[in-house]
Amino acid sequence: MASHIVGYPRIGPKRELKFALESFWDGKSSAEDLERVAADLRASIWKQMAEVGIKYIPSNTFSYYDQVLDTTAMLGAVPTRYSWNGGEIGFDVYFSMARGNASVPAMEMTKWFDTNYHFIVPELGPDVKFSYASHKAVHEYKEAKALGVETIPVLVGPVSYLLLSKPAKGVEKSFSPLSLVNEILPIYKEVVSELKQAGATWVQFDEPTLVMDLNSDILQAFTHAYSELESSLSGLNVLVETYFADLPAEAYKTITSLKAITGFGFDLVRGSKTIDWVKDGFPSGKYLFAGVVDGRNIWANDLTASLYTLQSLEGLVGKGKLIVSTSCSLLHTAVDKENETMLDEEIKSWLAFAAQKVVEVSALTKALTGNKDEAFFTTNSAALASRKSSKRVTDEAVQKATATLKGSDHHRDTSVSARLEAQQKKLSLPILPTTTIGSFPQTMEVRKVRREYKANKISEKAYVNTMKDEINRVVKLQEELDIDVLVHGEPERNDMVEYFGEQLSGFAFTMNGWVQSYGSRCVKPPIIYGDVSRPKPMTVFWSSIAQSMTKRPMKGMLTGPVTILNWSFVRDDQPRFETCYQIALAIKDEVEDLEKAGINIIQIDEAALREGLPLRKDEQAFYLDWAVHSFRITNVGVKDTTQIHTHMCYSNFNEIIRSIINMDADVITIENSRSDQKLLSVFREGVKYNAGIGPGVYDIHSPRVPSKDEIVERINKTLGVLGSNILWVNPDCGLKTRKYSEVKPALTNMVAAAKHLRAQI
Ligand code: GLN
Ligand code: ZN
Repeated sequence: MASHIVGYPRIGPKRELKFALESFWDGKSSAEDLERVAADLRASIWKQMAEVGIKYIPSNTFSYYDQVLDTTAMLGAVPTRYSWNGGEIGFDVYFSMARGNASVPAMEMTKWFDTNYHFIVPELGPDVKFSYASHKAVHEYKEAKALGVETIPVLVGPVSYLLLSKPAKGVEKSFSPLSLVNEILPIYKEVVSELKQAGATWVQFDEPTLVMDLNSDILQAFTHAYSELESSLSGLNVLVETYFADLPAEAYKTITSLKAITGFGFDLVRGSKTIDWVKDGFPSGKYLFAGVVDGRNIWANDLTASLYTLQSLEGLVGKGKLIVSTSCSLLHTAVDKENETMLDEEIKSWLAFAAQKVVEVSALTKALTGNKDEAFFTTNSAALASRKSSKRVTDEAVQKATATLKGSDHHRDTSVSARLEAQQKKLSLPILPTTTIGSFPQTMEVRKVRREYKANKISEKAYVNTMKDEINRVVKLQEELDIDVLVHGEPERNDMVEYFGEQLSGFAFTMNGWVQSYGSRCVKPPIIYGDVSRPKPMTVFWSSIAQSMTKRPMKGMLTGPVTILNWSFVRDDQPRFETCYQIALAIKDEVEDLEKAGINIIQIDEAALREGLPLRKDEQAFYLDWAVHSFRITNVGVKDTTQIHTHMCYSNFNEIIRSIINMDADVITIENSRSDQKLLSVFREGVKYNAGIGPGVYDIHSPRVPSKDEIVERINKTLGVLGSNILWVNPDCGLKTRKYSEVKPALTNMVAAAKHLRAQI
């Protein structure tokens, strides 16, 4: 019996890596400074795991940006535009791929399965020449060893790597990256051989794509790859790790029949079928890594239930062959609950963050070998019992209101075309109206004042005045830039979900419960522990102030129910849709109050609608149905003349375009520039779209300022597919993380581009 952790958060218990990265990017600290912070973080993680007795401790799950990009670097698969001249890939090329540089935009980034983590999408064409160009996996293994910690090096598996790649420019339609499998295997062989030489006895290949709906050709690629690697892997124990769902039957069969693989990691939290597959047959003599501790959430494990599951699995695979593990990498949960000094003690007792999950894995392992820590198990049962019976979890009125929503449907009374006409009469916007997505750069000053107010260091009056000044500045700037539909800039918001959660009942907050979203950017998901309601208006005060500062329309700015749900740690004691309906009713109250306060345009962001989509096709329709319904509930009660916007970012929308249309918003602004305008293809293919739409004209995730001509060209491309009567001009997403020195010229160029085109149409 032994214990294993699939992967660990790299950002640090207090986001040490984030600050080190940003300071390095700003030229305020050296590469050595950054490397020192990173090495300290790795060392403390390894030591912590070693201290609690974890046997299989992962290495190479650290990353300066993203593990898929690390793999791209390992394979030397640098797109030519980043002018890499061979040799070991250093920070400059690495971060150029991740973030772009003065002359070249960043590579595309997309969501990692159904998480809020984003990876850098590899671009592979038939001409790519692979070479072993980053020895990071080996370095990290050696580094841990030098600290006295034996680790299991983790690599993104070769087949998942290729399946997550996209064809390079020019060969989009004709090339399948999977055809490169024989080209990348030699590099994997080199890495494995170096790891062996360095003393590794195990290696872990993450192959999460195995949980997707894969056809037999693709499954064949797994068989091919691991058979091909077999001789290089001999002498090593090989773990293939899967997560985020159970394996489809065929995938289970394929992978468990591979000789080269000695251990299989399964997600037993999300996977309901896996135990049946194991019962039906598990290769004798091999290891089962049982992911019973949830890597996607913050709830304490039900240790008694897990122990029962583990015991039954042990009966199936044999003593000594069962390894206790996490359901997936702990990257997707918060880092350490110990730093939560402000959290209510009762709620805190219900939780386990990454550091606590490591202890849970260890406690389960010990219990399985007959060394059960009775006190630890008793405390755990008491916490679970208190959560079940706690009065703060249940609100009868909310339960009643949502019960009536199930099985019902809600639609606007009029068609979107009729509504747009009514709105245009009131708003009189030019064609190709310009707008932004909501947030403006959050200066140090704004952050500081918000922080001080929260800590009761300054008065409410001082806080409100600073925010008013900030809003006024943002409003005046937009007027100067001649933007048509204004925003207030969201200076009062730390985060688009947390801000609302803080004002809703049923939510709890952490101080340091950060989870990496991409690069140095983290989110701090609220914890939804109870029934949700809105005690009082949340945004009306700020939106009204902002509207009073200008004659131009001011967009009210809300986060939608599905996004609040998908970006929170959600209670696991009732179905997700039930919680989502509760949030929808709360947002509906807010929408109606904004309308009453004279806000004529209300944007309800659903940035995360796509990412909640279940990975497997047979579960998607149900999700889309309640998610889209939840959105419609929020605005079903508004007047035709109130324009409802929504916004979505970083997703592949094409497969859910019908659901997006079904949301029946009046205008949607949508990410478009970083994913190579993929979005447009769906309209090119004939999907009818009558509502307003603003496909983002430039990437806000990069410091690069787009030129006017470039934006004109972008919009022109879009005009070839979508009518000028429905087209809006806006950036890809909010401007919160940018600097004014980037935002001003970028928006100047954006407005100039819109005006240039208006004159031509
Ligand atoms: N309104 C939000 C903002 O501008 C939207 C952010 C998002 O889509 N992620 O910051
Ligand atoms: Zn966005």
